[in-house]
Amino acid sequence: MYNKDGDNMKVQFLGTGSISSLSASASIIINDEIVIDMGNGVYKRLLNEKIDITKIKYLVITHLHGDHCFDLPFFLLGLSKIKGGSKKITIIAENKLKRKIKKLLKMAFPYSYRKILRELSITYINNKKLNNFNLSKELNISSFKVFHGNMTNAHGYILDNNKTKLLVSGDTSYCNIIKEYLNICDYAILDSSLSKGNESHMGVDNIEHISKIYKNTKIYSTHMSPNSKEKLKKIEENNINLFIPEDGNIINI
Ligand SMILES: [Zn+2]
Ligand SMILES: [Zn+2]
Repeated sequence: MYNKDGDNMKVQFLGTGSISSLSASASIIINDEIVIDMGNGVYKRLLNEKIDITKIKYLVITHLHGDHCFDLPFFLLGLSKIKGGSKKITIIAENKLKRKIKKLLKMAFPYSYRKILRELSITYINNKKLNNFNLSKELNISSFKVFHGNMTNAHGYILDNNKTKLLVSGDTSYCNIIKEYLNICDYAILDSSLSKGNESHMGVDNIEHISKIYKNTKIYSTHMSPNSKEKLKKIEENNINLFIPEDGNIINI
């Protein structure tokens, strides 16, 4: 069972879908305090799961496509309105995000965005080359650059609590760095957008291959389209390494 002292990682899937899916956009929350990606639908998922957003210490944004950051204005508004709670948040993302957050908030709330920003205390950390950055007592994060089509600044992450290594791919093609880290990670949450992987996203073909080759790594699919999810569910039936989560599922690793 999940233990607050940090022996395990509690990983909850807030969203598991791609843009065309009925699920919220791909996002996870770790130990109720670290959210990776805040795309469309994710803020409402946090509310539905009754997660205390004042306890969220870190938002990690893999890259600046809308399905990974467009719920930020709603999350920040929600945080700014909580009476008495902590309004501090640290955002780990590429440097451009600071300007983008202001733009997004201005678009969403043209007459109150300045007030929202004044209410909050936001610290930004550049996600480039994070090397064992300490998130909590026993949880460290490292970043690596992935190949995601023409999005030149997209990152994946490794979370490590000295016992378990979790790979979070973000949006990526099946590039060499993913292969390299699959060798050393116990768990992997992987982009599974397409039927057939291309230069922007991984596909069912890549996931099936990975689950056969990397037998010591437990594979969880995310960022699934309705089509890729249906195909993956069939593969999951005969595959002990592959898991197809639903929004809200929790794994203790
Ligand atoms: Zn993307
Ligand atoms: Zn995406």
